[in-house]
Amino acid sequence: MSKATKKIGIMGGTFDPIHMGHLILGEKAYEQLELDKVLFMPCGNPPHKRNRKGRATDEQRAEMVRLAIEDNPHFELSLIEMHEEGYTYTYRTLEQLNKANPDTEYYFIIGADSLYDFDTWCRPDRICKAASLLVATRNAVPEESLKEQMLYLEEKYKGNFIQLHTPNLEISSQTLRDWIRQGKSVRYYLVDEVYTYIREEGIYRA
Ligand code: ATP
Ligand code: MG
Repeated sequence: MSKATKKIGIMGGTFDPIHMGHLILGEKAYEQLELDKVLFMPCGNPPHKRNRKGRATDEQRAEMVRLAIEDNPHFELSLIEMHEEGYTYTYRTLEQLNKANPDTEYYFIIGADSLYDFDTWCRPDRICKAASLLVATRNAVPEESLKEQMLYLEEKYKGNFIQLHTPNLEISSQTLRDWIRQGKSVRYYLVDEVYTYIREEGIYRA
């Protein structure tokens, strides 16, 4: 067995739009786990979900991520989940990465809401085999409940679940889309360049 020499975090999401919560999770994961880098991986939308009213296109979501992370040398944009067919499964992406990079250990970063959904994801057992799960709190979920769910999944799927030490970050893309549509300020919740881009492109106005 080859020994892992690299540790890479993966921050996956819709990023519609990418916000401070995503960026802080990536940065804290980098720091806490002493990662080599963090990949920001926007998921692809299947063709029937593209160009929906009030949503950003796949290209715009990717561009917002690029703008948000460009000044951080240990963040990188990965477009491997964005392709014509659209749909991708996390376990497949992770297995593909493991195969291509046998010297790398992967850490998949999720918020607490995703932890409670995890059972419904496709092949959680294979996700757990391919990566450690880094879990950040969200929606002020009680610490014991979070730990209990991590333990439950750890036993069920023989996974490695690690708690990320982040404060509760009261922010979601949904809230930001609503605020933009209502003409409310989202300043400071987003990187300035992303905010400018959203205004220039008129995203989320519909
Ligand atoms: P939406 O409101 O559209 O669902 P979102 O803010 O939840 O957007 P996603 O792109 O769906 O953002 O999330 C990607 C990942 O980041 C998920 O694992 C989610 O749990 C996590 N995440 C997003 N925002 C936060 C936050 N404020 N605190 C902790 N985790 C978060
Ligand atoms: Mg979400």
